[in-house]
Amino acid sequence: MADRLDPILPGSYLGILGGGQLGRMFTHAAQAMGYKVCVLDPDANSPAGAVAEKHIQADYIDQAALKEMAQLCAAASTEFENVPAQALDQLEALGVYVAPKSSGVSVAQNRITEKKFLATWQAEAGIGPATHLVIERDADLAQVTDALLPGILKTARMGYDGKGQVTVHTHAELENAWHTFGKVPCVLEKRMDLDFEVSALVARGHDDEVLAYPVAQNIHKNGILHTTTVPAPSLKPDQETKIIEAAKAIIRRLDYVGVLCVEFFVLKSGDIVANEIAPRPHNSGHYTQNACVTSQFEQQVRAMARLPLGSTALVQPSIMLNILGDEWLSTGSQVEPSWNEVLANPCAKLHLYGKAEPRVARKMGHINFVGLTAGDVTHACDQAIKILRIKR
Ligand code: ADP
Ligand code: MG
Repeated sequence: MADRLDPILPGSYLGILGGGQLGRMFTHAAQAMGYKVCVLDPDANSPAGAVAEKHIQADYIDQAALKEMAQLCAAASTEFENVPAQALDQLEALGVYVAPKSSGVSVAQNRITEKKFLATWQAEAGIGPATHLVIERDADLAQVTDALLPGILKTARMGYDGKGQVTVHTHAELENAWHTFGKVPCVLEKRMDLDFEVSALVARGHDDEVLAYPVAQNIHKNGILHTTTVPAPSLKPDQETKIIEAAKAIIRRLDYVGVLCVEFFVLKSGDIVANEIAPRPHNSGHYTQNACVTSQFEQQVRAMARLPLGSTALVQPSIMLNILGDEWLSTGSQVEPSWNEVLANPCAKLHLYGKAEPRVARKMGHINFVGLTAGDVTHACDQAIKILRIKR
């Protein structure tokens, strides 16, 4: 059972480990409710550090920095799953209310423990991880059967946006890939025959209330999220119910306070596979900023501040389109995209993260399209893709 304590009131400082775009949008949401935010990030130019009241520029395990944060902040959270568990534990030991706790975050820090955890739902919910094999030593390679090929070799740690993973078709390719990764612990996953991908965003309050947002349908390009559409056009109601129940059970089992996202694959066979857990607000939940009563970032603030959760209801259909650095570079030289043309459509809501340098595959911002009908938002998104010359 989570702690039952008084709420942390506006005016207080909330701490966030990590200064990326998720931290920045969290900061905006917290400030809108009257909180102050302290960001811990080693980067002098971090997107969240630029907007928070306080930016401690130091490493996540810097003792003096954590002490300073603990003195200032009533509560703390993380914006990325690879934050060292010891940083969260230390803040907690210094009397800060940490949500989620490191035990809830760490299961998602390693694909091996994550898959093991997800496998426990196979019997219960009929939803388990992709067929896979852990590769930790040379001898494990001999265990790989043809049934696992073609497969995707993923490093157990630190992978995101398709980084740290490679498709392998043969045993020789697999061996090469594992050597290229420096023989670090990996998971070899069978490449599944995906019909489509979805994600379930859920939140749990300190009082054990659990709420789910509508399930979102995601399209990835080169391993990076491209669009999120809500309601999920391809999902059947019984599949949505099953997915939401699984995500709610996961957040409870992890005794997790805050916002959490679970990615799922819906296979051509109709089977559902749980892909990975993101212990934080997620890129596929950005649509909530403009389409739901409560954004995922406000929800994270509420959970951390031990306030009641807000409604997760969808007010209007929505599509989120990610904006990558590529969009500045499509003509060969660096040109600011034609935001005025995109925003000529009243459905379009632009969010940019204040990153100075556009680079290929770097997440620079997103556009949420909201409108009366799914047709309106699809049309608006298609128009923007053309204007911005985004390759499909
Ligand atoms: P990341 O941490 O980079 O998001 P994921 O495991 O979610 O890593 O993989 C990124 C994308 O690659 C997925 O969203 C999906 O499109 C594709 N993918 C990953 N694993 C598989 C698989 N086993 N079968 C088919 N496609 C996959
Ligand atoms: Mg993923």
